[in-house]
Amino acid sequence: MSTGRKPSKNKVKCIKTRMKIKSIKANTELDSRGEWTISIRLKLQNGVEAITSVPQGKSTGSYEAAYVKPQIAIKNIAKIIDPALKGIHAGNQNLIDHAILKLDGTQNKSKLGANATLGVSVAAAKAAAISRDLPLWKHIAHLLGNKQKKTEFPKLFINVINGGLHTKNNLDFQEYLIIPKSKNIAESVKTGLALYKNLGEYLSKNFGKGATGLGDEGGFAPNLKDNLEPFRILSRVAKSSHLQNKIQFGLDAAASNIKKTPAQLTKLYDELKSKFKLHYLEDPFAENDFKNFTKLNKSIGQTTLICGDDLTTTNVKRMEKAHAAKSINCIIIKPNQIGTLTETLAAIEQARAWNWKVVVSHRSGETEDDFIADLAYGSSAYGLKLGAPARGERIAKYNRLLTISQEN
Ligand code: PEP
Ligand code: MG
Repeated sequence: MSTGRKPSKNKVKCIKTRMKIKSIKANTELDSRGEWTISIRLKLQNGVEAITSVPQGKSTGSYEAAYVKPQIAIKNIAKIIDPALKGIHAGNQNLIDHAILKLDGTQNKSKLGANATLGVSVAAAKAAAISRDLPLWKHIAHLLGNKQKKTEFPKLFINVINGGLHTKNNLDFQEYLIIPKSKNIAESVKTGLALYKNLGEYLSKNFGKGATGLGDEGGFAPNLKDNLEPFRILSRVAKSSHLQNKIQFGLDAAASNIKKTPAQLTKLYDELKSKFKLHYLEDPFAENDFKNFTKLNKSIGQTTLICGDDLTTTNVKRMEKAHAAKSINCIIIKPNQIGTLTETLAAIEQARAWNWKVVVSHRSGETEDDFIADLAYGSSAYGLKLGAPARGERIAKYNRLLTISQEN
């Protein structure tokens, strides 16, 4: 997607000095599920213009910041946010986001809507990066105080088989992930692509052409024998593709949406761990079950990443609870769960201070906006969860990482 526009050459001289916000407008657009979301166009006095659009989840956690209907978000931006933010320097992300928080005044952004607040917050960051002639990831690294010695590419968390709320098949678990081991992006993409394509061939040959239909995040969505069958198939395909040493397996159980007891789930995880060397396990239990997260983290956390998503919702208060209980060693970061870039970066910094691995994530209802690729690279995140290499809104993030790697 085009994310912004620089002014003509004769205006370029004053571009860094006239970074004050001139106007913010929002519009409706469609997400990847064909549901309405919003896009935001933010203009600066220097002529720079930045565009961003906001994704939406389906298996959302109850502690996420609240969205409002697109038409209400658009009205809130026009009537409340735009008049208040006019004249603020786009480089001052902290000031912008705190002004937004004050205008909202609620615990969970329910007045303005986290879709409205996030869109404005990210659009301001994009406009500042364009004005300073910096790639967005570098601007984000600056906002984080450039504390990382070296910026690293995230590992790709590729959702190749979809289940749960993201499709209509018989798999309870939501995301069967492959994680290429390489830190070289081009290499990781090649490995992911090869496995994904060979998996499609395998499914079509063994289960018929209907088995290659796709779920919301671009992974295949077949009906299978049981909840562990996807890993048996993936092991077979990895072996026949000679990729078994180049990938690891991960699972987002999204267990808040599964009707199984913690004991039943634990049994499945034990099997996954012993048979498939599971590297990554997200939301293994329901969003308030800190106790069972803690038990699992104690038993397998030395060798498996136990990751909070619905448990923590990119919210430092929820993270503090998880930290006190030693529930996780890894966290999902979704900017729209909290609703501003400043709070997102605070969650990343806090996670890092506790030595948790950080995995930036897309939502199941995505747009062509590739902002999360810059966020993952600029914050040196351990991983980026970005769906299968199959649909435009997912491909946008792959391509942005490839572009960044070519620029470096
Ligand atoms: C997830 O649960 O990690 C996810 C990406 O799904 P959704 O966006 O539907 O919450
Ligand atoms: Mg999740």
